Amino acid sequence: MKTQETTSSLDALTSLSKRRGFIFQSSEIYGGINGFWDYGPLGVELKRNIKQAWWDDMVRNREDVVGLDCSIIMNPKVWEASGHVGGFSDPMLTCRQCRRHFRADHMDDLIAQSDWITSLAEAGDADEHGMLTLDRGKLERWIRKRGRKQAKGMALVKDAETHLDAVARTIGEEPRALRDVLVVLGMPGLPEDSDPMPCPFCGGDLTAPRQFNLMFKTHIGAMEDHSAAAYLRPETAQGIFCNYRNVLDSYRIRPPFGIAQVGKSFRNEINPRNYTFRSREFEQMEIEFFCHPDEADTWYTYWRDLRYNWYVKLGLQSSKLHLRDHDPDELAHYARACADVEYDFPFGTSELEGIANRTDYDLTKHQEHSGKDMRYFDDQTRERFIPFVIEPSGGVDRAALAFLTEAYREDEAPNDKGQMQKRTVMKLHPRLAPTKAAIFPLVKKDGMPEAATAIYEACKKAGITTFYDEKGAIGRRYRRQDEAGTPYCITVDGDTVGTGTVTVRDRDTLAQERIPADDVPAFIAKSLQCE
Ligand code: ATP
Repeated sequence: MKTQETTSSLDALTSLSKRRGFIFQSSEIYGGINGFWDYGPLGVELKRNIKQAWWDDMVRNREDVVGLDCSIIMNPKVWEASGHVGGFSDPMLTCRQCRRHFRADHMDDLIAQSDWITSLAEAGDADEHGMLTLDRGKLERWIRKRGRKQAKGMALVKDAETHLDAVARTIGEEPRALRDVLVVLGMPGLPEDSDPMPCPFCGGDLTAPRQFNLMFKTHIGAMEDHSAAAYLRPETAQGIFCNYRNVLDSYRIRPPFGIAQVGKSFRNEINPRNYTFRSREFEQMEIEFFCHPDEADTWYTYWRDLRYNWYVKLGLQSSKLHLRDHDPDELAHYARACADVEYDFPFGTSELEGIANRTDYDLTKHQEHSGKDMRYFDDQTRERFIPFVIEPSGGVDRAALAFLTEAYREDEAPNDKGQMQKRTVMKLHPRLAPTKAAIFPLVKKDGMPEAATAIYEACKKAGITTFYDEKGAIGRRYRRQDEAGTPYCITVDGDTVGTGTVTVRDRDTLAQERIPADDVPAFIAKSLQCE
């Protein structure tokens, strides 16, 4: 029945998300606001299901992890101890022409996506190693045609006569790597505090990298002076460290144990982009797992693999999901090991979650700054030690985007007349699907609506999110549910009243089977089990 499937492009996904109510731009009626997103009726259910699946699997169904819910604004000393006030900043470049801001560590990605740089590379006859030969004639032609349109901020384009000789002399006819060509192009006439790389959008001069603090600042109370300054948390983790002693002293638990938290975090990202992937307000799901230093390596491997497999279990294909161990020179100075779970998004392979062995760094810092003893006393071994921390830290919005990307398919399904027609279907795992089942009476008569309503009520009573729909042709109703990601459509037809059975249509295989109407809640509940 199925024909060839197409997977998602970001445009197609964005448009479906808006059309069907997964994700909207924040404050859209006022033109939106960069880096902020809203989740519509289907999106909010998807997000809740992701968080619930995480909470059930990481907290409720384990003996060694407990939950916590901390305030978003904390004593500013927390952020001094954690290093965020001093260090939570990214080097940033600003284009002097178009005023865009870029993170220095994102320049390579931006160069690869830039229209004008691509056209320049094409004009430069790249060989199989990506080495360009850019002679003066070609460069002049490029400036006149593409450069004027695509890189209008570039000194070389604005005033070719002044700069061309210098550039042509430096480039010569030798093949060069693209980055080297760009550096030369960015050079002529640059002020001293500039980066030689031209702006990937307009070709203009970029400032040298400058530190930019990513924390949103606010003030507590009526006075807006320095003493009233506070921050919106940029991660949920620090709230956990600050409560580590409270949990230890109030709850009967001892290392190895974890504290988990799900909640909003805020970062004033320089360049929010790629849909919800890099937002300024987002949700995190974090665990700080406290253990004896000698056991930290084992626990690190355990959590790294467990977190990777969690995404696979919920439907991300392992061919698109990568576990990337950081090289030693990539590690933060306090971390002993770190791995990213990465997913092949339509815009490239990017981080979904990080798992790190943070050693005793955080608790030691809080011990130093607060003066409170963070050591754990093991009364069996009589040992006193600051636990090491393994931190799996994931983003709810990035997980939602990965699950939506993975789910999006275009294929064909038969319409009411049995003819094959294109359909868009969201193949979300039943556990994550916003609606688990849709109940349809085939027509609005002969007792069908009553029988369908009874099944709807039974599902609701069993805690299953169900949608009742009696309007329109049955094929149309199926299509709407396919786009919403509903795994099962239950149809009550003429035979139901006599036989007590209904048709169950499977969203993915399109197979239809008859089952007793009374079994519907149990049938759906079974599909929600993950293993
Ligand atoms: P990146 O390098 O992409 O900025 P990061 O390494 O700074 O991410 P962490 O500080 O490790 O991210 O945060 C843990 C998780 O929180 C990330 O894996 C991601 O899922 C999520 N996250 C971080 N920043 C953002 C953001 N701006 N928008 C959405 N999710 C985010």
